[in-house]
Amino acid sequence: LNIEKVRLRPLVEEVVGMIEMKAGKPAKIEIYIPENVEISTDSLHFGNVISNLLDNAVKYSGDAVEIKIYGDNNEISISDNGIGIPKGSLPYIFDKFYRVTDGDRYEVGGYGLGLYYVKQISEMQGWSISVISEENKGTTFTIKFNRDEKR
Ligand code: ATP
Ligand code: MG
Repeated sequence: LNIEKVRLRPLVEEVVGMIEMKAGKPAKIEIYIPENVEISTDSLHFGNVISNLLDNAVKYSGDAVEIKIYGDNNEISISDNGIGIPKGSLPYIFDKFYRVTDGDRYEVGGYGLGLYYVKQISEMQGWSISVISEENKGTTFTIKFNRDEKR
């Protein structure tokens, strides 16, 4: 990884712009990140991490997607109002090639690699990633940048 100090908000805005273009349906994406927040990361990989999480948020939500992105020096979280993840699947979603098949899934393609990548990059940076999800309500992924706290 090529770690450098980057401003979080412009990085996220750039990824959001790309996701909005390819969404193919109305996507209301709100960014709540103060201008002055800086984090140490590999901006290319971090952009891909955010892109994967947003791609999922759009894919696994209905026709009118609402996504909220919160960020500060300690963490970033991405919440959607989508179909959610069944409790029984939560332990596996970061596994290589794992995709949820049970329940009322939308007909969306994928390889089950996005979250595997997200987890790999997070771990390489010493970050922790967690998920809270409720079926038919939505999902929130949170990445905590704070290395000292957890390990
Ligand atoms: P890929 O990302 O490789 O194109 P994918 O999206 O299926 O394929 P992951 O991004 O790894 O794979 O996600 C794994 C599974 O977790 C998905 O198949 C989906 O069922 C579930 N999932 C991930 N994010 C969400 C979300 N925001 N809402 C609902 N389900 C989700
Ligand atoms: Mg994905």
